[in-house]
Amino acid sequence: MTQVKQNPFRQRIRKSVLLLSLLLFPVTMNYLSPYLIIDSAAQGIVNASLVVFVLLFLLAFAFVGRAWCGWVCPAGALSEVCFPIQNKPFNNRLNWIKWVIWGIWLAAIVFMALSAGGYQTIDLLYKTESGISISEPFMYITYYFVLGTFIILSLTLGKRGGCHTICWMAPFMIIGRRCSNLLHLPGLRLKAETDACTACQRCTTACPMSLEVHHMVENHDMENGECILCGNCVDACPHGVIHYRVTP
Ligand code: SF4
Ligand code: SF4
Repeated sequence: MTQVKQNPFRQRIRKSVLLLSLLLFPVTMNYLSPYLIIDSAAQGIVNASLVVFVLLFLLAFAFVGRAWCGWVCPAGALSEVCFPIQNKPFNNRLNWIKWVIWGIWLAAIVFMALSAGGYQTIDLLYKTESGISISEPFMYITYYFVLGTFIILSLTLGKRGGCHTICWMAPFMIIGRRCSNLLHLPGLRLKAETDACTACQRCTTACPMSLEVHHMVENHDMENGECILCGNCVDACPHGVIHYRVTP
């Protein structure tokens, strides 16, 4: 396998932010919770995770696509921690799994909200009165369940296995980015100078989402719903073929 030499600075910053986010997960867990959004919908309450998911959609739509996944997400961070143990590429043909789970989950939220007669109030500290998610020892059960699930999926399915199959946040951003593309809005994207590519495939080897980046370069199409804008391909290419650009 080709040894990938990466731009150390940008990737160090990215990994540091991811690590910090992972360390803060005991505080932030409820704000990203796929369960509390259902629980609060059943009582007609807008909770913090609903607000966060709407913001992720809007951010993806307005500018940054799935950069949250590549630069901030604690589950993404945990998945990348597993790379030295399991570095096999994920089979991207299994991406449909997350859409099935997401569709059922979204239907449950809508059903609960409708059953409650719609949203009537906002409580951003719903079941998080102290502001810190793990405020009681029993909350560690949920915490380790989430961590364990993402670790097992990464170790069994390949790189960022959980991001591809069960992430409940990714679809919001993928849809946000697709809407942005349809409207040709400017945003942070990858661009490639295909003529300079030597087909060495270092970009593909470096991609944490197991995308065939060299084919994307070859096909003049750097847009992919699974791209998390991490910049690994940008930094791994020895010929500077791939760049970040703000373009429609
Ligand atoms: S295509 Fe490049 S920026 Fe996108 S996920 Fe793969 S390595 Fe990261
Ligand atoms: S884009 Fe760069 S890293 Fe990817 S195949 Fe072409 S030359 Fe190699």
